[in-house]
Amino acid sequence: MKSLAEYLELAGQAHGHLCAGQVLGVRLAMLGLRELGIDDPIAERKRLVTYVEIDRCVTDAVTLVANCRLGKRALKFRDWGKVAATFVDLKTGRAVRIAAKESSKQTAREMFPELEKEAGQQKAYAVLDDDVLFAKQWVKVEVQPEDLPGFKGPRAVCAACGEGINFKREVVIDGRTLCRSCAGECYYQPSS
Ligand SMILES: [Zn+2]
Ligand SMILES: [Zn+2]
Repeated sequence: MKSLAEYLELAGQAHGHLCAGQVLGVRLAMLGLRELGIDDPIAERKRLVTYVEIDRCVTDAVTLVANCRLGKRALKFRDWGKVAATFVDLKTGRAVRIAAKESSKQTAREMFPELEKEAGQQKAYAVLDDDVLFAKQWVKVEVQPEDLPGFKGPRAVCAACGEGINFKREVVIDGRTLCRSCAGECYYQPSS
């Protein structure tokens, strides 16, 4: 694993700025990897699947350190609005969920009262103990075969729109194979 300083440098570049979220996310992911005994997430990239629970600054740092990308299917998003991530070790079946403690923000703010809020938080997140910042829980995650990186399965075609569907995301309603959009889960409406 790289050092905190090295990861912060990389995280700042990838994310576009260094912020408190980057520091917290780097720390969160480093803790998760350390718990799983994964020392080199780049060399062992096929070993790890990461579930993130928020789409905010912190997530960019978590995925950078864990080396988990959406396009590699090693990153899963659960839109729960929580600063937390679960790291699943496919080799051992072990999984650990690391969540930022609700008190961590306040603790960080109080640590360097002389500094401006964001700067103080950045500095505090870099030095506070893991157990001040995070709650850790060993969990079990059943990653379905079709959710794993490298899954190969038959493609379906939606009976309504004709678009192809991968990874068993089709649904069958009254004997018709449909994509989720045509089955009623659509997030968009035609605009004309
Ligand atoms: Zn940011
Ligand atoms: Zn469809």
